[in-house]
Amino acid sequence: MREKPKLIGPNKGEVFEIEPDKNLLGRNLELSLENKEKFDMNNVVAIDVMGSIGSGKTTLLEETVKLLREKYSIFVLGGDITTTIDVDRIARHNVPTIQINTGRGCHLDANLIQNAISKIDLSKIDILFIENVGNLICPAGFPLGTSKRVVVVSVTEGPYMVKKHPFIFGETQVVVINKLDLAEVMEVDPHSLKEDVHKINPDAKVVFTSAKHGEGVQEFIEHLGL
Ligand code: MG
Ligand code: ZN
Repeated sequence: MREKPKLIGPNKGEVFEIEPDKNLLGRNLELSLENKEKFDMNNVVAIDVMGSIGSGKTTLLEETVKLLREKYSIFVLGGDITTTIDVDRIARHNVPTIQINTGRGCHLDANLIQNAISKIDLSKIDILFIENVGNLICPAGFPLGTSKRVVVVSVTEGPYMVKKHPFIFGETQVVVINKLDLAEVMEVDPHSLKEDVHKINPDAKVVFTSAKHGEGVQEFIEHLGL
């Protein structure tokens, strides 16, 4: 009989040595509540859009702003390590944007958002989309003060994308399963991804999209309550 692979984890107490310490997470939470207050005061619906690089966050946002820009005043904040590729794509649709470069940071935090929104007149904005850095691990621990969090996963990321990110899906109101048109060639069952989401978070709304072709985008908008 073949031996089972050995499992190694941190010893008791060890993991905290390398995790962001409680002060950092606590301070982020405080700042996120300040952001939330500013959004609420100005009637801004702020939406944090998370997902891996290549999942289709920017494409989904492009298609979404095309459908909403006549009805609402929209602003997009884009988080990226170094480039402006994403906000440049959004800006083509005549939507105002700000790029937040995180340098080596692998997620946005409430402080970066506070700095960015201090440069915007929130009273003139209805909806603020925030495209987070392409990463599904640590954004879970860094709420930004948004009223909704969205995760975009693509069927091209394989069948275990949801199972392997248990924390982020627990914090999310809307999950977008994107690139549905490629599900068959990828041999990934989008319905089992949806089941995986509901095992973690029974209340999450799940929508199937092919954002590139505009499919499912209207339903996404409805799930956001817009
Ligand atoms: Mg992007
Ligand atoms: Zn990070």
